[in-house]
Amino acid sequence: MIQNSQNLFERAQQVIPGGVNSPVRAFRAVGGNPVFMTSAKGPYLYDEDNNQYLDFINSWGPMILGHACDHVEKAVHDALGKSFSFGAPTRREVEMAELIISMVPSVEKVRMVNSGTEATMSAVRVARGYTGKDKIIKFEGCYHGHGDSFLISAGSGAITLGVPDSPGVTKGVAQDTITVPYNNLEAVKAAVEANHGEIAAIILEPVVGNMGLVPPVNGFLQGLRDLCDKEGIILIFDEVMTGFRLAKGGAQELFNVMPDLTTMGKIIGGGLPVGAYGGRREIMDYVAPAGPVYQAGTLSGNPIAMAAGYAMLTYLNEHPEVYAYLDNITGKMVAGMRDNLAQLNLDYTINQVGSMFSIFFTSNPVTDFTSAKQSDLALFGQYFNSMLRQGIYLAPSQFETLFVSVALTDELADQYIAANRKALQEIH
Ligand code: PLP
Repeated sequence: MIQNSQNLFERAQQVIPGGVNSPVRAFRAVGGNPVFMTSAKGPYLYDEDNNQYLDFINSWGPMILGHACDHVEKAVHDALGKSFSFGAPTRREVEMAELIISMVPSVEKVRMVNSGTEATMSAVRVARGYTGKDKIIKFEGCYHGHGDSFLISAGSGAITLGVPDSPGVTKGVAQDTITVPYNNLEAVKAAVEANHGEIAAIILEPVVGNMGLVPPVNGFLQGLRDLCDKEGIILIFDEVMTGFRLAKGGAQELFNVMPDLTTMGKIIGGGLPVGAYGGRREIMDYVAPAGPVYQAGTLSGNPIAMAAGYAMLTYLNEHPEVYAYLDNITGKMVAGMRDNLAQLNLDYTINQVGSMFSIFFTSNPVTDFTSAKQSDLALFGQYFNSMLRQGIYLAPSQFETLFVSVALTDELADQYIAANRKALQEIH
């Protein structure tokens, strides 16, 4: 029963484009209407009709400790008592920068912004300012927010809605973005060769979450690092999803490959709107007012958002066992799904890195955007809806990853595996 959600969606469509404030929420790729949420606690979401869901979106990543966890909640309450916003520097911003630098191996200086989109737009601007070059290389199916330069062969909601190249992006901007297939070092080398001396930066998700979960093949990240060193190109890891999630220091720690710049978001706001970009000191010192590249924000470093993010990062820093727990519980679910597939004589691909995972309805390995798009999207839609009916809330698109939180117990993982089996049976 989702009558109240349906009524709200009808009202929403009159006053909000498509009825939602971010496209993928509209459930267009999976059919049916979106569910309107009212509250969340631990592993669960609750909707307008009092239904309970086991959540595998976790606000698209930040709820790594589960919803409304006590110490983030307390930090926000304490901060609320002091000021909502100063528009002036605060001690907590310094502490936040120090904490991020201590956790993320390649970051020597960091600037706070308000979203992942702002972080990637700003990182590319400083890379261009620092190198004096205009072009960037991005990978097909990677999503870096909705900045103009990135809405070219973009994954996530852009491909979900069938607009990987958005109207409104000028030809001038588009011609400075070169796209190549993910995991294809030879294609990157060829693009660099064809645009020799013109590339400011290569930007990528070191583990992709926005075409479904796609890991880097062996040597891909190191190959990019070597190429960038040889050619004087800035390597940007977009760790908006992977940062503080795959390891304390993100994918760069996990794969031991250091970018020049890192973009961050999601977890560093503890659920409030925050992003950040940081990296090598001499590059970050190009940012105003230290240097000439302009970037600013009225609400950047907002005290409430900093309080939430600082509480979240402090917890992760002091509890590294979180990562082993997440790896194990996610591994258990993936093993359970593989058993289900084997018992039902089905052959689909499951990708997993740490607490991020995806099922693709194709038997081919999924290593890039072309292979991700081979997934049977109609089947994905049926699978999604079967899981939803069983109270399991998955990302409403094939081209998104699932995120696990520490609130997921062993028992709930078993519940997920059983629901997965039932859904697979139902749709075949
Ligand atoms: N970069 C990556 C890898 C993302 O996954 C996202 C959003 O999902 C962004 C950037 C944009 O972040 P935001 O939605 O906070 O603007």
